[in-house]
Amino acid sequence: MRLAGRVAIVTGAAKGLGKAIAFEFLREGATVVLVDRDSSSLDKTQKELDKMYRNNAVAIVTDITKKRQVREMVQKTLKQLKKIDILINNAGIVAKNWVIDLTEEVWNKVMDTNIKSVYLCSQAVLPHMIQRHYGRIVNISSIAGKQGEAAGGAYAASKFGVIGFTQALALEVGKYNILVNAVCPGLVLTDLGQSGVNDDAKLRGISREEHLNWFIDRTPLGYLGTPLQVAKMCAFVASE
Ligand code: NAD
Repeated sequence: MRLAGRVAIVTGAAKGLGKAIAFEFLREGATVVLVDRDSSSLDKTQKELDKMYRNNAVAIVTDITKKRQVREMVQKTLKQLKKIDILINNAGIVAKNWVIDLTEEVWNKVMDTNIKSVYLCSQAVLPHMIQRHYGRIVNISSIAGKQGEAAGGAYAASKFGVIGFTQALALEVGKYNILVNAVCPGLVLTDLGQSGVNDDAKLRGISREEHLNWFIDRTPLGYLGTPLQVAKMCAFVASE
């Protein structure tokens, strides 16, 4: 087991990729702190995972865009589990708009959730990781962080930003044996993935199937990724 004895915080763990990451980390022997703002889904996921993995999944309801809540979540984790080895900055949202129609409110929400939160959560765990001379931070960016797509201006800006932040932080804290990496999934049909495809298709005036096929045609292997594939990549970069 590659993560035996490790304590990992996974944000956005109530569903989708975060839930798959939490599941894979538990399977690899870690204790996982499930963080999400959606308390009812989080509770359900915590019960499901905890039952399978002998009380190794802890849930802390947190809005990761709020500095005070993030600090409290880290303090609670340290109080209960004594250490933090791994932080997975996964929680995120998508928004599909032509830039001409993109409101400041949507722009700010996307930036707060997808990039400000990465800074807040990373900063909150760093003093502890530096003190212990050990840490793994994995930031979930996106293929949209490597290539911008029409109707995804705010999302692409936030995900390109995650890669830049990752590179800067990796250079700052490598000397403390803290490794910082970004993972860039392609389209995965989670709730977020589904709503992105639906909203995109609507904006373009084409069917959902047409839009989905356009995505699939551009993948080298001709099929979409799965949450488990993303989770396994995260486990690899979070391991030794
Ligand atoms: P999802 O919508 O299925 O799950 C996201 C989770 O994050 C939800 O449980 C939600 O409650 C939580 N969340 C959102 N805002 C939060 C906040 N402020 N505080 C705490 N929790 C919050 O989405 P997903 O598809 O699992 O996406 C996870 C990450 O992967 C996101 O960063 C997303 O941008 C990225 N990503 C997804 C895809 C895809 O196609 N699904 C592709 C590339 C990257």
